[in-house]
Amino acid sequence: MACLFCNIIQGKSPGRKVHEDDLAYAFEDIHPQAPTHILVCPKKHIASLNDIQPDDTELLGHLFQVCKKIAQERGIAGPGYRVVANTNRGAGQSVCHIHLHLLGGRPLQWPPG
Ligand code: AMP
Ligand code: ZN
Repeated sequence: MACLFCNIIQGKSPGRKVHEDDLAYAFEDIHPQAPTHILVCPKKHIASLNDIQPDDTELLGHLFQVCKKIAQERGIAGPGYRVVANTNRGAGQSVCHIHLHLLGGRPLQWPPG
């Protein structure tokens, strides 16, 4: 199974790493939509939110802890930031390995397109 984000996590494809721990890997989005645009992924391959299992609950919570940490480091925790997970094509998911988009550093409009 060829998965771009598994390859980035495993160092087989280039990526600008922001954070790594036992469970999670975060890197800069290659086409940033905001001054801060980081993708926070589980190291474990899960295709989308539709595929999460009860055993993944702690892992998913951990991803949000990583988002909080990076937001603090990037100075966007106070001003505000957005965390989103596009799920399936209708929502714009283009890479089938769960990732949280962490966006900030500019005013963010709502609702998104
Ligand atoms: P999504 O459309 O929600 O699946 O998000 C996929 C994201 O991955 C997009 O924002 C892309 O810009 C980003 N992306 C695609 N290829 C790469 C890559 N090689 N390195 C970093 N980010 C990428
Ligand atoms: Zn993967």
